[in-house]
Amino acid sequence: MVHPVRGSVELSEEQRVFRRSVRELCSEFDDAYWRERDATGEYPHEFVDALADGGWLGVLIPEEYGGAGMSTVESVILMEEIAASGGGFGAAQAVHGGVYNSVPLVNYADEATKAELLPKVAAGEVSVQSFGLTEPNAGSESTAIETTATREGDEYVVNGQKIWTSRVDVSDYLLLVVRTTPVADVEKETRGLSLLLVDLDDATGQGALRMEPIPKTAGEFVHSFELWFDDLRVPAGNLVGTEGEGFYHLLDGLNEERLVVAAECVGLGELAVERGAAYAREREVFGRPIGANQAVQHPLAAAHAHVQAAKEVTYAAARRTDDLTRRELGGRANTAKYLAAEACFEAADAAVQAHGGFGVAREYDVERYLREARLTRLVPVTQQLALNYVAEKVLSLPRSY
Ligand SMILES: Cc1cc2nc3c(=O)[nH]c(=O)nc-3n(C[C@H](O)[C@H](O)[C@H](O)COP(=O)(O)OP(=O)(O)OC[C@H]3O[C@@H](n4cnc5c(N)ncnc54)[C@H](O)[C@@H]3O)c2cc1C
Repeated sequence: MVHPVRGSVELSEEQRVFRRSVRELCSEFDDAYWRERDATGEYPHEFVDALADGGWLGVLIPEEYGGAGMSTVESVILMEEIAASGGGFGAAQAVHGGVYNSVPLVNYADEATKAELLPKVAAGEVSVQSFGLTEPNAGSESTAIETTATREGDEYVVNGQKIWTSRVDVSDYLLLVVRTTPVADVEKETRGLSLLLVDLDDATGQGALRMEPIPKTAGEFVHSFELWFDDLRVPAGNLVGTEGEGFYHLLDGLNEERLVVAAECVGLGELAVERGAAYAREREVFGRPIGANQAVQHPLAAAHAHVQAAKEVTYAAARRTDDLTRRELGGRANTAKYLAAEACFEAADAAVQAHGGFGVAREYDVERYLREARLTRLVPVTQQLALNYVAEKVLSLPRSY
């Protein structure tokens, strides 16, 4: 059945079945569940466990390693549904790393690591939820990272600091981006970066990792941390891919991930439109439903139009990840992320406005949607950086930075 607000996009029969089963699972976690997580800041363990039991954390892990071996379209469906179900961007972010960190492992980890780790990740027994790239002096300019890993015998010794590393508290491993060759010794700053798989229990046991949570105002139940590494020893076998090529390894799959983030924004936007419209149908002021006023209808209708347009762009690109060049896909993925984040912010704002004073009451949830929608304009890439890509790579304008 076509959902009245979420509409329908072109999907295969299997993909429609997949969407229905995700929707069914998500429906077991109601608004009160998410409201409670938001109020207490508790990670939604029950929800993530349920997804793991369904086998969906391994959506992108090939079947030979125990995963579902699905494509970008399925991960787009998964994340849109999680967000639209009431979980919002926060719920999608609670599992985002678990789904996406498997991609560089599948593409670049050695065979022994893949055979050992991936089936456990797919089954939800081992978690690789966290990814550490951003540093206090390197956010948008990711190649400016200063955390170093120096080879000593059959180990790397890691020193430095990360910031905003999310889900470290619910991860067994952290996928860490480090500089293995100083910038001065490489011909381009994109070279000399490497990926290390860090066993977090081992790191804590060594006394070489200190972490502090960052208090924040959106997605409180997905915790982000500041990390300090002090002579952390990581076995050289935990290098993922080729030393010095880590940045290029990350580029593989980056556009697909951006489409998945766009889908999370689309889901949040659909959720906000639905809740805004539902309230506008019920609430009576001056003897009639407030939704009878065009001033209330139009912002919701415009937001709906923009969310659905962003959705079409997102799914159209997700269906074509195999036949577009990386640059073409990058243009579409950055466009989708930009449009979807703007649209979900517009939708959440319209939903808050339609709720009047209750727009800021936690009981109605829309204030949470607005906080999360604001965050989507900042992560994992800011709107400006998404536009920089479109300007430079699609419109052939001079690089502006
Ligand atoms: C809740 C949360 C969770 C996060 N989780 C993770 C995580 O798990 N792992 C991780 O590695 N990182 C994570 N991040 C970090 C996130 O990816 C960065 O915050 C983001 O990339 C922006 O970097 P920055 O904060 O350093 O902003 P800056 O790079 O300092 O930018 C500040 C502002 O300047 C603008 N700006 C900078 N340069 C330009 C330019 N050339 N043109 C136009 N505008 C420009 C930016 O768009 C932005 O608005 C998280 C962040 C948050 C808030």
